[in-house]
Amino acid sequence: MKCRICGNTKFDDVLDMGKAPLVNSLLDKKDLSKGEKKYPLVVVRCSKCSLAQLKTIVDSHKIYHDQDYLYFTGDMPQQSQYMRAFDSLVTEVHDKHTKKDDLIVEIGSNDGTVLEKMKDGRRILGVDPATNVVIRALARGVPTLSGPMEGRIARIIKKEFGPSKVVGGANCLAHIDNIHGVMEGVAELLSEDGIFWAEVNYWGGMVKHRHYALVYLDHYSYFSLKNWIDLAQMNGLYVFDAFVTEAQGDGLSLRIFASRDKNRAKSERFKKLVQEEEKTKLNTLKAAKAYGEGCKIEANKLYKVITELKKQGKSIAGYGAAAKGFSVLQLAGITQKHIDYFVDDSPAKQGKYTPVTHIPVISRKDAEKRLPDYFFITAPNYADIIMAKEENFRKGGGKFIFCDGTVTS
Ligand SMILES: [Zn+2]
Repeated sequence: MKCRICGNTKFDDVLDMGKAPLVNSLLDKKDLSKGEKKYPLVVVRCSKCSLAQLKTIVDSHKIYHDQDYLYFTGDMPQQSQYMRAFDSLVTEVHDKHTKKDDLIVEIGSNDGTVLEKMKDGRRILGVDPATNVVIRALARGVPTLSGPMEGRIARIIKKEFGPSKVVGGANCLAHIDNIHGVMEGVAELLSEDGIFWAEVNYWGGMVKHRHYALVYLDHYSYFSLKNWIDLAQMNGLYVFDAFVTEAQGDGLSLRIFASRDKNRAKSERFKKLVQEEEKTKLNTLKAAKAYGEGCKIEANKLYKVITELKKQGKSIAGYGAAAKGFSVLQLAGITQKHIDYFVDDSPAKQGKYTPVTHIPVISRKDAEKRLPDYFFITAPNYADIIMAKEENFRKGGGKFIFCDGTVTS
């Protein structure tokens, strides 16, 4: 194993979550008895550049090609904290970094939901490796190529469309093994005065909140700002702006902007975040080890809360059948013994079953006939809209459990 950023081969173990299946693909009823392939889910830290990353990588072809990738950005609640966090990105790309007819390219553009918002007089082009999301993007009229972003595809795009004024990607760069290949493509495609942006899981928020829900097999890397400064610089780009967004809740998303200009003025929020990482010694082995221990404590706390409620004869259902939630179940040891079913608004997920635990996923409408005593909210960044939507459930005495083990009164 070689470090994705610096090529070093020495690592320290940080967090061992056991063996896990691919989580973004739910199972059909007919596949429940077939047995699922599992892979080690272990976070390690590079001893040289400090990047936290998975020890074992599952080939992304398995994730994106051999089975349907069930995550469509457009299926997410558009008023959620996650989607709202992109409003500032769209505004910034428009007002600060582009003018009419400029080309904007998005990496991992999924079904085109975010890219479409940036259109308004600009030329837009998406690039995404998952064929089924690309087809959805094309159906809604967002031009999108199916494939990985790298040097070859960047050269073809540049030849046909010219250099791109803005290239970036949200929540896709952690899924990519050959990250230098992507950065090579970015550097190739970007105009001389172009802007690169990225939004990724933020290691700082994970460490601070002992948050492990983002640890799953398709997240290969867990980035700090320092990691991005290193990675960009190795590809001739310089980070000049960075801040923590609320896309994943709890300070778990990092957005960075970089350009080719080494001397470009750095933003105050960039400087502040660099200082904060230094002050909290975020990029040290000590912080990583403390994170690993802290996550186990958090998972144990949640397990105790849930088993105690079960002892009292309470029924519990999950809210949101997403990868993050399955990681929480995994480390906390929560199974079909504890959770009766999952509710999910995405029609693509309804009628399917969770990996390993085989908990059925149903629509909220179907849940109405068999409401639980407690809904377990697996994604903290949707808690506010779920709670608002479920006012009647609460009025009827229903309660909520959160990943940190807290329960509404
Ligand atoms: Zn490294």
